[in-house]
Order: sequence, then structure tokens, then C-alpha cells
Amino acid sequence: MKRSQRMSAVFLALVLGLCCQYVVSQDTAPDQSSGKKANIVVLATGGTIAGAAATGTQSGYTSGKVTIDQMLDSVPKIRELANLKGEQVANVGSQDISFDIMLKLAKRINELAASPDVDGIVVTHGTDTMEETAFFLNLTVKTEKPVVLVGSMRPSTAVSADGPLNLYNAVAVAADPKAKGRGVLVVMNDQIQGAHSLTKTSTTSVETFQSPLRGVVGVTAYGKNDFYNNPSWPHTTQTEFDISNVTKLPRVDVVYADADMPPDLIGASVAKGAKGIVIAGVGNGNMNKGSLQAAEQASKGGVIVVRSSRVPTGTVARNVEVKDDEMGFVASGELNPQKARILLSLALLKPHTPEQIQEMFNKY
Ligand code: ASP
Repeated sequence: MKRSQRMSAVFLALVLGLCCQYVVSQDTAPDQSSGKKANIVVLATGGTIAGAAATGTQSGYTSGKVTIDQMLDSVPKIRELANLKGEQVANVGSQDISFDIMLKLAKRINELAASPDVDGIVVTHGTDTMEETAFFLNLTVKTEKPVVLVGSMRPSTAVSADGPLNLYNAVAVAADPKAKGRGVLVVMNDQIQGAHSLTKTSTTSVETFQSPLRGVVGVTAYGKNDFYNNPSWPHTTQTEFDISNVTKLPRVDVVYADADMPPDLIGASVAKGAKGIVIAGVGNGNMNKGSLQAAEQASKGGVIVVRSSRVPTGTVARNVEVKDDEMGFVASGELNPQKARILLSLALLKPHTPEQIQEMFNKY
């Protein structure tokens, strides 16, 4: 071989080598700046991500059929992202997630996060009540380590199931040191959302989760994460809520307001022992005259009444159309009824005046 031919061969080999390296690095895990794989625990609770149907194209399926080990084994290369350990905490559709399961999850996360051998936690969960569990954990887990919820809109057996990539991305976010200190996150459909602000907006679309007032925290694509925002509300280590000895939450009901709503729904709730009532109000957290009177009576009798809204976006402010100061009500701010119920249930673990609870709604 002539000298010039030899040089070309070396050059070609170098270029090929670099290309191969590029392809490999594009195809593997996100940056592990320390050079060590993170240790991630995946806590499974069920949901559509663990759901199965008889065929790949039918819309009917059963949630919570697949175990965490089956789920992890079905995602190519997920074990290259992190050292993974799975634990089955429950296996239910999230319509059946109870406060008992939320408490169990929060306690287990606090236990795991206290260990130096755990770098992050992923929770697989149904999407129907994911926003409630995410917000509950956001207020009760005591760690800066990433805690990431993930689900799917299509069952594991569907054509184009979204669960495997969602799970891959969730592990990549939980293993990313940049996810630390951002509160509880939800990873679905290539987006990273904050627990305070996200809500489910579509019954079927894979793009169901949105954070209408705050936007996404970041995006993720095949394990490469890009963070744009920090959630702006206090969370995790910054909150006053300690559930370590809590076994039961006080009863708080959500009452839905609409045209010609029967006012006796509020009295029925009080009679059943509710310590708090969240009104899913019309517009800016409003309800008809009879219901306002019933709510005022409940409030004067010691039940905390929070005005939230059935409208998907916007805030509920004090004393706009309703005289909160006179009637003793609390305005929910940005929190939708289901999240207002979570905050009020935690707030009522200790005695508080409506004014103190209003401060919590302003803060969290
Ligand atoms: N019903 C299911 C659940 O929430 C729906 C889902 O996961 O998307 O568990």
C-alpha cells in the first residue's frame, strides 16, 4: 500500500470509529456525570400502564394485570439507564387508589429516600387520579431526591402502547441529578410536569396531562432530559406536613355545583361527618343562593368550606362575587377541586382556623 493510501485508510478508520461511538452514545443512557449508574427503585401501584386486553386494538382492558418485573423486562435497554429494583405496592386501577395507599406510598418513599443506596424513585400509577397522588406526595415526602410518577393511556397489550417509553423516560428523569429538588414530577408523553399544576385533560389522548397555568417543567426524549422551569410552589422538604404517624385522613367531600344545584348536598355531607367541604364551584368558585346559605351554615358550624372551581383553568380569588370574609370561606387559588381536597385533608390533621387554612392555600 502506498503512503497516501495508508493515510486514507487510517483516516477512514478514525472517522468510522468516531461515527460508531456517536451512534452508541446516541443509543444509550443519559449523562451519568459521576460515571456511576444511579440506583432507582420503581414502586408499582397498577393502572393502565400495567393493564392488559385480549387484543392489541380493543379499547376495553383491565388495569393492574401486569407485575412490575414483567413491566421492567418489557422495556428494551431500561436497565442500562440505572440499577433498577421493583416493588409492588398495590395493583389497582387508579380509580381505586385510596388515602390508605397514598399514605403507604409516602411512607415507603420516605423510608427509601433516607437510604444512601437509593438515588431516585419512580412510581407507576394509573392516570385517572395520578394528579391527586402526585400532589399528595409533593406535600408529604421529605426528600430532595427525584420522585417521578409515570403511567400510560394505552394498556401494555395495545398497538403503539405508550407505557414502555414513558417508563424508560421516567427512569431517565429519576436518575438525572438535575431532577433533584424540583418536587414530585410526572413524566408522560415526553413531558416533565410538576405535581402542583398538572391535570388530566383528555379521557383518551396520550397528551392528556397539561399544566395550564404554569407550563411544563421540561421535556425528555429517549432518556435525554431538558429542564426549563422549577415548580414555583413549596414542596417536599419545604412543607409542614408530617405523615409519619398518620394512619387516617379526616373526611373531606367535594360537592359539585351546577345550575339549580340542590343545596341539601352540603347539609348531607356535614351530616355524614365531613370535616371539610370543597365546592367544585361554577365560574370563580360560585354556587346558587341556597347552596351559599348552606355552605355558610356549615362553615359557622366548624366545617371548613373551600371554594374551588369546576372550570379547567384560572384561579379562585377571595371576595370576588362571594363574601368570603363574612361567610368564613377559603378560596382555593390555583388548586382544582381534587387537589384542594388533598391539601384540605392534610391541613385538617391539626386544628386550624379558616384564616390559617387560607394561608396554606396561598402558600401551597
Ligand atoms: N383507569 C385507569 C387508571 O387510572 C386509566 C389509566 O391508567 O390511564 O388506572
